[in-house]
Amino acid sequence: MRRYIFPFLINTALFACFIAFGIAHDIKTGRIEVAAEWNPWRPLDLTLPDSPVQAWKVSRARGDPAQCVAAMARVASVSALPDFTPSATCSIEGGVVLAGLGAARLDPLKTRCALAMDLFRWEQESVRPAVREIFGTDLRRIEHFGSYSCRRIAGSRRWSRHARAEAIDIAGFRLADGQHVTLLRGWEGSAKERAFLRRVRDGACEIFGGVLSPDYNAAHADHFHFDFSPWGFCR
Ligand SMILES: [Zn+2]
Repeated sequence: MRRYIFPFLINTALFACFIAFGIAHDIKTGRIEVAAEWNPWRPLDLTLPDSPVQAWKVSRARGDPAQCVAAMARVASVSALPDFTPSATCSIEGGVVLAGLGAARLDPLKTRCALAMDLFRWEQESVRPAVREIFGTDLRRIEHFGSYSCRRIAGSRRWSRHARAEAIDIAGFRLADGQHVTLLRGWEGSAKERAFLRRVRDGACEIFGGVLSPDYNAAHADHFHFDFSPWGFCR
């Protein structure tokens, strides 16, 4: 009996490989249509819904500045920066100048492309829908205090994630109807401002490894701090 089982298994495996390669080839050539977020050959499109294939492409782009810049250039205003390494502790690697996310503008900002990609996701999934639902208007501008800054954490000997452009400080939002929502006045401001700022803080916690808001301490009364921390804090 064993005599027959091994050839049978080998033939079955070969047949399965043949079918898998055939399907892969047909997806690649477009003969079989799959949803865009499931197509591994399609270049990364950051506006597509989540899927395991999409997550794999995003994680590859995080480690590959050229792919990251190409994907961001389709949805944001970015230009690639040459690597900047003024010291062993301070650098911007895989950097971009970021001046817009979707339809929202920013004062041009030097940061890592991977951080710009996270900001785009936050703008799309959290900020823009919250502006529409709470204020009934559109987002025009995101105000910030910058990303790269060669410094230590205040009151500590440890280097800040800003020293590697792995963090950004967000100060406020300008809306299409002229409203100006700042962290400083809005955190304890009108009911709408309070609801909006807490909602986009919570939205950021789904995306960034580290999030600090005015709830954390007085040093953050006027901005959100978002960073690449692996510790998953959200305060
Ligand atoms: Zn910060």
